[in-house]
This record gives sequence, C-alpha cells and structure tokens, in this order.
Amino acid sequence: RVVPNDLNAFWMPFTANRQFKQSPRMFVSAKDMHFTTTDGRKVLDGTAGLWCVNAGHCRPKITEAIREQAGELDYAPAFQMGHPLAFEFANRLVEIAPKGMEHVFFTNSGSESVDTALKIAIAYHRARGDGSRFRLIGRERGYHGVNFGGISVGGIVTNRKMFGTLLTGVDHMPHTHLPGQNSFTKGEPEHGADIATELERIVALHDASTVAAVIVEPVAGSTGVLIPPKGYLQKLRAICDKHGILLIFDEVITGFGRLGAPFAADYFGVTPDIITTAKGITNGVIPMGAVFVKKEIHDAFMNGPEHVIEFFHGYTYSGNPIACAAGIATLDTYKEEGLLTRGEELAPYWEEALHSLKGEPHVIDIRNIGLVGAIELEPIAGQPTKRAFQAFVKAFERGALIRTTGDIIALSPPLIITKGQINELIDHVREVLRAVD
Ligand code: PMP
Repeated sequence: RVVPNDLNAFWMPFTANRQFKQSPRMFVSAKDMHFTTTDGRKVLDGTAGLWCVNAGHCRPKITEAIREQAGELDYAPAFQMGHPLAFEFANRLVEIAPKGMEHVFFTNSGSESVDTALKIAIAYHRARGDGSRFRLIGRERGYHGVNFGGISVGGIVTNRKMFGTLLTGVDHMPHTHLPGQNSFTKGEPEHGADIATELERIVALHDASTVAAVIVEPVAGSTGVLIPPKGYLQKLRAICDKHGILLIFDEVITGFGRLGAPFAADYFGVTPDIITTAKGITNGVIPMGAVFVKKEIHDAFMNGPEHVIEFFHGYTYSGNPIACAAGIATLDTYKEEGLLTRGEELAPYWEEALHSLKGEPHVIDIRNIGLVGAIELEPIAGQPTKRAFQAFVKAFERGALIRTTGDIIALSPPLIITKGQINELIDHVREVLRAVD
C-alpha cells in the first residue's frame, strides 16, 4: 500500500487544512464503524464520514454491486439515452420519498442538487407564464454547498465574500437559533417558531409576486446542528403557500434516515415542493445526488411543448450506471437492516448519552435530534475555533472521529452504531473535553 506523503495535494484548501499540514491524519481503510489510519490504529467513525456513510463502511453488498456494474455496463450517455438501472433506481427512490414526490432528477453531489432545485423552481414559475418570480430566499447559517447557487442562498457570509454579488434577487431570513433558546434542550425547542414570520417580512420587502422559492435545511447541519422549534417548518410552509412560493428542503444531510425517519419531511410532517439529496443516497460511496420533485411541479415544467428549450439541464454523469447500482444496493441495505428508521429507536439512548456531557468543562449547550448531536463549547477569548479543533485532534488521537464547526462539535454516526459504541464515542468526547485548554 502506498501512503501518500505529498501534502501539497489540493483538495480542501481552507483553514482547517493548514492545520492539517502540520499534523496529517489519513485513513487507509475502513470497515463498518471504524477507519484504520496509516499507522494501523482503529478510529471509531462518529460522523459517518461527512454525514454520508449511513450504513457504515465497505458494506459487502454495496461494494459488490459497484464491482459487478463496473464490469457490466460502466457508462451510458446521459443525453438522448437511458439505461434501465436509472429508471429502477428512480422508482426505488420514489417508493421511499415523501408522499407526492413522484419525480427524481439525478445529479452528482449535494451542491449540484441545490443548483438543480433552484433552477427547477424558477423553471416551474416560467413554464406557468409567471416569469416575474426570480427571487430566492435562503437562511442565515444555511449551508447549501459550494457552487454559485448554493453559496448565494447559503447563509455563510465568508463563503461568498470574495465573489461579490452572485445570483441577483437573493435574500436571507434569520436562522432559528435564538441566543439562549436552545440551552440544553432535548430534541426540538418548544418555543421560538414565530421567527418564521420573518419570512413574511422579507417577502413583503420584495413583493411576494417576485419570489420563486425559499430554501432551508430542515435541520441546519454543517453550521452546528440548529434544530427548528416545534411548528417552525409548518409556518414556513403556510407562508409559502399563501404567496405561491415554492418551498425547498435541502435534505443532503437529513435525508436517508439521519433523523430516524426516511426524510426530515416525514419527521416533521411537512412536505416541501422540492427536496435535494446526496450523501446517503449511495451510502456516500459514489458521488451522486437526486432532486425529488412533486408531480404537479414536474408536470408543469417538463410536460409543456417547450420543455427542452425551457429547461436544459443535466450532467454527463447524471444517473450513471455505477452510481445507480451503488444506490440500489444502498437502498437494499437500508431496507434489510431497517436503517431508515433505526434512528428513531436509538434516539432516546443517544439523547441521554449526549446530554450526560452537560457539566463537563467548556460545554455551554448540547442539542440533539434523531442520530445527530452537537456539543457547543465556550470559545477561548480571541481564539475562536481553537478549543474545538483541539478536541477534534485529541479525539482522533484517542481513536474517534468527530467533526467541528466553529466551536461546536457535531456528531452523526453511521446508523448501524450500537449502544456500546454510542457509550464509547461519548466517553471519548468526555475525556477530550477534560483534556483541552
Ligand atoms: N447541502 C447541504 C445541506 C449539505 O450539508 C451539503 C454538504 N455538507 C451540501 C449541500 C453540499 O453537498 P456536496 O458537498 O456533496 O456538494
């Protein structure tokens, strides 16, 4: 096995990776709940890779499906051609999709799914003769990937600052995490849903008849696991309905069982018009994404006589055979092992384990929902992110992969985690919290 030692490799050249260069951490293999490092240590995966390896690593069925497909039909053109697996996979996705979402548009990543969804929203209004709807509304602290559409509607100012004004007509509503609101709340906060009325205020600023869509992550993941107060998403839905605005849920993280239901739409009982997915769609193994679209939306923009001209969109690798084979094997694995709802069963245990960290040094908040958790740390004065990054490095040294975002530790283990492994993961975090500055 060749261990790369060229640390100038260019794949994620942001701040965290400058730190990476000083102390390289690399994996060479993985199985189920564990990675193995270059020096042969086992590391418990507390984050399902990057929120994607929901069924755990190197699952034989998925690996075998990829191997077989690569020897059978490695590629088929995505333009003017099809192949049966793409239809089979789309149908399988529709079977588990929230009710009414009957069409699937394949992409290759979460960022592509987001751009695709935004284009579909605008195309839908145009196809109905309503070309004045072009505005898009995102949310502060929203993360929707790194393409131009995603950073425009995303609410992370530093991700877009060097690019100036991007899409025109984009605005952001406030996020749901009010100061103090979530203090050690278990699950969804009882209060605070009224922040949804900020959407009404922003829509009014622009004239509702110019707004095409609102996009939110039902639970904001990458910016620190921000859990919506009870009733919040229902309120967003009602405001969108009132003004004829489409509601997009970015379920790149929450899709495929993360909350203990197949999708966040199921968990919260709110059906959006469009859902973006990626990550868990192929168990994170092959790059792929899919956008789920309600039948009436699809019919409006795809069945018109001009649809090819109106909506030219798709990628060379959209629905490619190997990704579809991986996706079908992933859905089989989820089904056989009940993984799309396993989080519901484990959530109470997860919640207790996570909240047992209350009172440990530096912990100022703990949040949880499904099989996701966040432990927010008091920042070191003048050195934001330092403490959490230390925790990340120490956890890695102890044998656990955790993720940090700002001063927040985020946990999202593979859905196959056992109660014993939950204890192990939380104990690693506890020891690490006691050891950081
Ligand atoms: N949307 C959400 C909610 C995400 O969490 C992510 C990735 N973390 C993306 C979009 C972008 O996905 P990708 O990295 O596959 O482009």
